[in-house]
Amino acid sequence: MAMVNSLANVKDSRWLQLEVCREYQRNKCTRPDHECKFAHPTNNVEVQNGRVIACYDSIKGRCNREKPPCKYFHPPQHLKDQLLINGRNHLALKNALLQQMPLQTVLTSQIPMVSPITFTPFPSLSQSIIPLL
Ligand SMILES: [Zn+2]
Ligand SMILES: [Zn+2]
Repeated sequence: MAMVNSLANVKDSRWLQLEVCREYQRNKCTRPDHECKFAHPTNNVEVQNGRVIACYDSIKGRCNREKPPCKYFHPPQHLKDQLLINGRNHLALKNALLQQMPLQTVLTSQIPMVSPITFTPFPSLSQSIIPLL
């Protein structure tokens, strides 16, 4: 299928994906975007399968795309923090796979902060990793 081919060519941006707030999509979310734990994308942002890709430049604090507006999601601060944690996880997983290191070692040594946070927006990522252990 076309989906599979395009996935193979696209660089790995799974850790930049955020779930879009379903209530927001129905205009029913009562939380402002800086309080809701899901993304509230504006009209110019591309939504695919209920998810948006966060703007990497925006996370770094310097997205200049205005005309036309950026098609990536500019996350509020708490989602940026979440993405940075995801990014570190992602790198740790990648390094673990590359170096054939026990995953647990990498996770506990590099990111001790992560365990109390139960927010896991990428179940598919962890599921795809587990059979490799
Ligand atoms: Zn919401
Ligand atoms: Zn942007």
